[in-house]
Amino acid sequence: MKIGIDAGGTLTKMVVIDNDDNYSFSVRPTSEVNLLIEELNEMEDIDVYLTGGQSVFISENIRHESHLSIEFDATFVGLKKLMERAGVKLDKFVYLNVGTGTSFHQADHEKQVRVGGTGVGGGTLMGLSYLLTGIEMFEDIVEESKKGSRDTLDLKVKHIFKGGPSPLPGELTASNFAHVQHGHFETATNADKIASVIGLVAETVTSFGVTLANGFGTQDMVFLGSTLNNNDVMRDVIYSYGPMKGIKPYIIENGEFSGALGSVLVF
Ligand code: ATP
Ligand code: MG
Repeated sequence: MKIGIDAGGTLTKMVVIDNDDNYSFSVRPTSEVNLLIEELNEMEDIDVYLTGGQSVFISENIRHESHLSIEFDATFVGLKKLMERAGVKLDKFVYLNVGTGTSFHQADHEKQVRVGGTGVGGGTLMGLSYLLTGIEMFEDIVEESKKGSRDTLDLKVKHIFKGGPSPLPGELTASNFAHVQHGHFETATNADKIASVIGLVAETVTSFGVTLANGFGTQDMVFLGSTLNNNDVMRDVIYSYGPMKGIKPYIIENGEFSGALGSVLVF
């Protein structure tokens, strides 16, 4: 049995590959890394493959021999496999790994190049949402966001041009949170605040990606990372904002397990 582990800044993703090549995916907080080490040490006959920020720490504390790989290489190999499974065939594309932070890559069939990164990502979504609303758990944050509207707090192009001729689509965000007005400190709902935080993160990473896609000569943009899990508001922003900016977005099923899967397949 092969076990691939991607121990990231927030979450540890794991894939178990049995002898029939079936995958079973699981996830746990990276803060529980010591528990994971104990569990691995109790298991027999396993091949352990590791990637991600905590991979060296795990390799030094398990009794099994392990195979270490560079996160960017592993993620690309795993992503290609998951894209193939999802029937997504792209010659040349940009992909965004929206993890705790976000990293940006240009890719074709053969190789990927990491072309940038930003600290704006899933960690930003968590931190700002908590500070603005007191809601702490990811599941609760995304659930609350579904009740919200971004129209209250975000300034759109249509708010500026008020029905007159506009050089840009009216639904495009002119400035995130710039629609906040006197009194909103008391009246803005948690749902609206979180919806706007998610909009800020989604639009920031997408815009950065659009610039890279333009420079790379592609319109295809692939999104992965646990930040997208069950995150309907973020997915909606990506699917509506992306095309407004001229790109074709793809969200790959189980994409957050690319690193874990690739850590095995890369060898
Ligand atoms: P990095 O790759 O930047 O080191 P990571 O690999 O831990 O980080 P991901 O697992 O792809 O990153 O995504 C982490 C983000 O996923 C969190 O910041 C949060 O927004 C979101 N998330 C989804 N589910 C959870 C969860 N159960 N607990 C905490 N965050 C979650
Ligand atoms: Mg990661």
